[in-house]
Amino acid sequence: MAETKQFRAIKGTRDILPPDSAVWDWFERTAREVFESYNFGEIRTPIFEETRLFARSVGQETDIVSKEMYRFELHGSSLLSAIRVELFEREAWFHNPQAGSTLDWLIRVFAGELRDMMQRGDLARTPESVEAAEKLEPLGQALIRDQKEFEAKKDHADLLEDRFNANVQSVRHLIRHLDLGEQVALRPEATASVCRAYIENGMHTRPGNVKLYNIGPMFRRERPQKGRYRQFYQVDVEVLGQSDAPGIDAEVIEMLMEFFRRVGLKKTKLHVNSIGDKNCRPAYVELLREKLRQVKDRLGADSQRRIETNPLRVLDSKVPEEQEIIATLPRISEHLCDACREHFSQLKRELALRGIQYEENWRLVRGLDYYTRTTFEVTAEGLGSQNAVCGGGRYDGLVELLGGPPTKGIGFAIGTDRAILSIQEAGSAPKLPGSGVYVAWMGQAAYPAAIGIARKLREAGVSVELPAEEMKFKKSLGLADKLGARYALILGEDEVASKTYTLKRLADAEQMKLREAELLEYLESERRGTRA
Ligand code: AMP
Repeated sequence: MAETKQFRAIKGTRDILPPDSAVWDWFERTAREVFESYNFGEIRTPIFEETRLFARSVGQETDIVSKEMYRFELHGSSLLSAIRVELFEREAWFHNPQAGSTLDWLIRVFAGELRDMMQRGDLARTPESVEAAEKLEPLGQALIRDQKEFEAKKDHADLLEDRFNANVQSVRHLIRHLDLGEQVALRPEATASVCRAYIENGMHTRPGNVKLYNIGPMFRRERPQKGRYRQFYQVDVEVLGQSDAPGIDAEVIEMLMEFFRRVGLKKTKLHVNSIGDKNCRPAYVELLREKLRQVKDRLGADSQRRIETNPLRVLDSKVPEEQEIIATLPRISEHLCDACREHFSQLKRELALRGIQYEENWRLVRGLDYYTRTTFEVTAEGLGSQNAVCGGGRYDGLVELLGGPPTKGIGFAIGTDRAILSIQEAGSAPKLPGSGVYVAWMGQAAYPAAIGIARKLREAGVSVELPAEEMKFKKSLGLADKLGARYALILGEDEVASKTYTLKRLADAEQMKLREAELLEYLESERRGTRA
């Protein structure tokens, strides 16, 4: 029986097809243009990293880390893990010297695989694994000897059993803490990876601020809905360096808003806030926790849980019944230390200096642990409840937390899926040109000429569709129309004989007879937009 099941994209993922993909391409190209005009350079980082990197930076208690990451173990052999489980889990191995040869066999397979993997570089050569690779096999031999002696002289059974058990214990001890591979996760966001790369590549030695952007997919196991996917795309920007001048924050925000203006993302709203730093935030968080405990019974389950794990996140709540209570909670703006208050007022001055409209939103705390001081978010129209198209903020101290030198940082991530959805719903996506010229050739004598002119037009930057099979003119022109070509270039035996081309504009059926040089000149100037 033939396989009838249809394969489908995994839930929460999707295909982006032409012509939509051209809009994506234009969106990302515009981002590059804008960012490069602010002297940012592109960084490309891997799509998966050590799980601990995200746990450490995004925060163990955040939704992203605690339940949304796609994790897997990175090692070339599931055999090693399976044998380790076998050697550990089975209590029956104890007190049973007759299992000696079976254990020895398992140990030899394990040690052999361990050595091979270290040799291939698939497993780190740690002191523990080198020791295990050396000492496991002699222990296996000892177990066989125990078994033989046990079988030969039953009278010392107790003693032999003890020795056997001690040897099994030694085997377990050797393999217990072996690192059999890395725990890795698909990246749920980009900032952690960029900071890791900044440290690993010693980028702090570069002059001035390091200004980077990164474009690509992110992965979170969230409940899929409109504007929320499990593989989604972000355009991410980071500035790392020694300065935390509010002018940096303001310029990053200016660049973001300029990008949104250029891609026609209309009716956006910029929200800004300061969530303090390690000097003032802990006291505020404690105060908030205390107040929340007093009103605990009136909050939903999620908020109740967050009182203990991450009280700031309660301020994010969209639950209608909680809004009235949240409005009465203490606000961070009244609890900022002098330095943070000054930083925030300077940021507002810097934004005003650039003519950037914003709204102060004291409840904007963001769901990631690493933020300090400035946080911001942009919302857009037409997206329902998932209306945030960009989130960002300052993360001074994150690089240090990850083992790097003391470093200031600020960045943002634009949700490409949502931004494009909003642009398309507002009807402001550009009409991107489809193919330019369809070469309608007929007759075998015309085919070589068709190949030749297609190549020349393509060299001149014109998009050309050349049918690979001969068709009647009527059918060929019909297809040109359906494909949305602007022109059909008619090439039959007559045209070949007279060395001319008939160019038909499909919108109004106007036809011109042109020589090759005229044709190239005409189409090239049209492509440059210099012809009316
Ligand atoms: P965050 O990294 O959570 O600050 O998110 C930054 C932006 O990425 C958000 O404002 C959204 O536009 C977008 N985003 C986050 N999660 C998703 C998702 N699951 N699907 C689509 N876009 C997302």
